[in-house]
Amino acid sequence: MKTLLVAEYRDGALLNSTYELVAFAEQLSSESAMFLVGVEGVLPAYNGTLYLADASQYGEFNPAVHKQLLLDTIAKEQPDMVVFAHSSYGWDLAPRVSLALNAAHVSEVVDIVEGVPVAPVCNAKLRRDVKTKTAQTVVTLQGGAFGLYGEPSGNPSVVKIDTDAAPQVEFCGYEEAEAGGVDLTKAEVIVSAGRGIGKSENLAIVEGLAKVLGGEYGASRPVVDSEWADHSRQVGTTGQTVSPKLYVACGISGAIQHLAGMKKSEYVVAINTDKDAPIGEVADVLVVADLKELVPVLTEKITSL
Ligand SMILES: Cc1cc2nc3c(=O)[nH]c(=O)nc-3n(C[C@H](O)[C@H](O)[C@H](O)COP(=O)(O)OP(=O)(O)OC[C@H]3O[C@@H](n4cnc5c(N)ncnc54)[C@H](O)[C@@H]3O)c2cc1C
Repeated sequence: MKTLLVAEYRDGALLNSTYELVAFAEQLSSESAMFLVGVEGVLPAYNGTLYLADASQYGEFNPAVHKQLLLDTIAKEQPDMVVFAHSSYGWDLAPRVSLALNAAHVSEVVDIVEGVPVAPVCNAKLRRDVKTKTAQTVVTLQGGAFGLYGEPSGNPSVVKIDTDAAPQVEFCGYEEAEAGGVDLTKAEVIVSAGRGIGKSENLAIVEGLAKVLGGEYGASRPVVDSEWADHSRQVGTTGQTVSPKLYVACGISGAIQHLAGMKKSEYVVAINTDKDAPIGEVADVLVVADLKELVPVLTEKITSL
């Protein structure tokens, strides 16, 4: 098995998702090579061949040109799998590449079992194993699904690549989304509410604990989708990525998309009625309890200290 990992460079920096691609290749026990439209001064810590195109010449985002650079690299490397991050860059390029190769495309892969990609369906309530029938497969990886253990290391052997492909668009730069609501990335303590709170009125219980701990409250996506909390409070792949000293997850199961947003927290306490909830795998402490009973008592005790 051979993989080609499509790394990403944005605004002068290499994206961390690059190392999730490496972790994926490691989990597959595959041989790998890497592709990057970046700059020589910002190379990934990676032991292997890195096909490098110059971002100052080809632009950080330029689908027709990047696609051609990638297809030329694929022709040289003949990988079984071309691997992208499930990012806006990946969403744009991966389908173009799979169409050009006439290769199967599996989007938002969260696991790999015996070489078979696993992807979520039905709003991540189910997972399906997708056995592809084409010689090559193009995949995008869900953020946070494949984390690297330890510090990335290595020096790539760089092969510079070029193309004559004509750009169809002009890359003009990035525009930051307007900041609104609360910035959870700066909070040292976050107490988050999950679907386990049951109803919007119970958000106050979680908010109360956050307040006495001098922190902010956060939420999982179902809580935001139910309009019990503002989207600026959402933690996860489609919310904020946080790294507080203390993260308290109240009634949160620990879906991969939530973990992706909080797994860098220093200390995680989970409160859940289910002792087997997946959040237990990342929590330093899992308290098996009904949050509606435990959290108010905890808040009161801390207040009286
Ligand atoms: C493309 C995509 C992007 C997504 N992005 C995000 C994201 O950014 N953030 C995010 O959070 N999710 C995201 N999701 C959704 C994610 O897959 C999960 O569905 C979601 O995280 C589940 O939220 P939850 O843990 O609150 O709810 P559930 O999975 O329903 O878990 C509820 C938990 O509460 C526990 N519980 C129930 N009652 C109590 C009680 N009284 N006391 C204590 N515990 C109790 C249950 O045992 C259970 O573990 C995304 C999904 C997709 C497909």
